Amino acid sequence: MQFRDIKAQYQTYKDEIDSVIQEVLLNADFIGGKQVGELEAQLAEYVGVKHCISCANGTEAMTLVMMAWGIKEGDAVFVPDFTFFSTGEIVSFRGATPVFVDVDRETFNLDPVKLEKAIQKTIAEGKLIPRVIIPVDLFGLPANYPEIEKIAEKYKLLILEDGAQGFGGNINGKRACSFGHAATTSFFPAKPLGCYGDGGAVFTNDDDLVHLLKSLKVHGKGDDKYDNVRIGVNSRLDTIQAAILKVKLKAFIEHELEDVNKVYRYYNERLSGVVDIPVIPDGFYSSFAQYTIKLKNKEQRDGLQAKLKEQGIPSMIYYSKPLHKQGAFANLEFDKNDFEVANELSDVVLSLPMHPYLRDEDVNTVCDVIKRYMVRNFV
Ligand SMILES: *Cc1c(COP(=O)(O)O)cnc(C)c1O
Repeated sequence: MQFRDIKAQYQTYKDEIDSVIQEVLLNADFIGGKQVGELEAQLAEYVGVKHCISCANGTEAMTLVMMAWGIKEGDAVFVPDFTFFSTGEIVSFRGATPVFVDVDRETFNLDPVKLEKAIQKTIAEGKLIPRVIIPVDLFGLPANYPEIEKIAEKYKLLILEDGAQGFGGNINGKRACSFGHAATTSFFPAKPLGCYGDGGAVFTNDDDLVHLLKSLKVHGKGDDKYDNVRIGVNSRLDTIQAAILKVKLKAFIEHELEDVNKVYRYYNERLSGVVDIPVIPDGFYSSFAQYTIKLKNKEQRDGLQAKLKEQGIPSMIYYSKPLHKQGAFANLEFDKNDFEVANELSDVVLSLPMHPYLRDEDVNTVCDVIKRYMVRNFV
């Protein structure tokens, strides 16, 4: 059993994918081929925003936005404590200070109440200027944008949606990657919409931001690539990856997103009352980058992971270390007691095999092992 079966997906679309790759090879337009612009237009339409700008990966997508917004030393950027390292890294990379905020125990996402407290504390201390909030759509579930947007407005902060795991989710029909002033996603192979290498994109309705992003991703270009008006980077999505993504986006829209939600419902049916299952609030829809359960404590979680492994079932711990515990952030000042939930989650979460091609019998196999383990060890 695969944790995320990218091979099964390829087998399903092999002819189409092989042929679009072949087309790029024959045309040899590896950089900036027509597929890149076509994909950007399709992604923007699907997400429901005016612009999509593709780039090299999800981390760089966020960095580009930070650069365009002029985020720098002395600025505070609020990020969830429970996320992939990248979300905090891009803040420090610009010389600004990430302010970690605890998350909600049920949704794993940024806790709006604790977010407002962190903003107020930062203002009261007076050392940093609050500038941006980066909510993360963890495991595919959009963050609580209705509440976060109110807070951003109150304190005049920008929102960057980190939708690296969130592509395909929605809140009452409004799609992930359309929230905030800008949003980003990643096409890393294991994400909800993945390519066959690295890739990423920025989404926004802001024309001025688009103008800056298009310059920054091409060495700060002015009129053309050899007229450079600012310091930028080189960040682009290869034509081959765009061609592959066009095929995969169609599959994603036609059935994959629905199929992964079917797997979610079947898992829930089998595991409800056995372990803590994912909670999707009313009106929210997840793209299930991960199906993450919670156990009672670290011992129980680690024991279950070992038992699954024994049976040849892969599982992952996302994330075993909250950001505030990462060595790279050891220089930052914070109160360890502010991260009660993130600390707890890192001990009790376990992500199970999850993808649109997972069969009912695979779910049964996983759940049978979990049920046997729970009955034997913890009644
Ligand atoms: C994967 C991921 C990123 C980074 O994406 P890359 O394409 O690997 O750079 C950023 N944030 C979150 C939450 C992610 O899961």
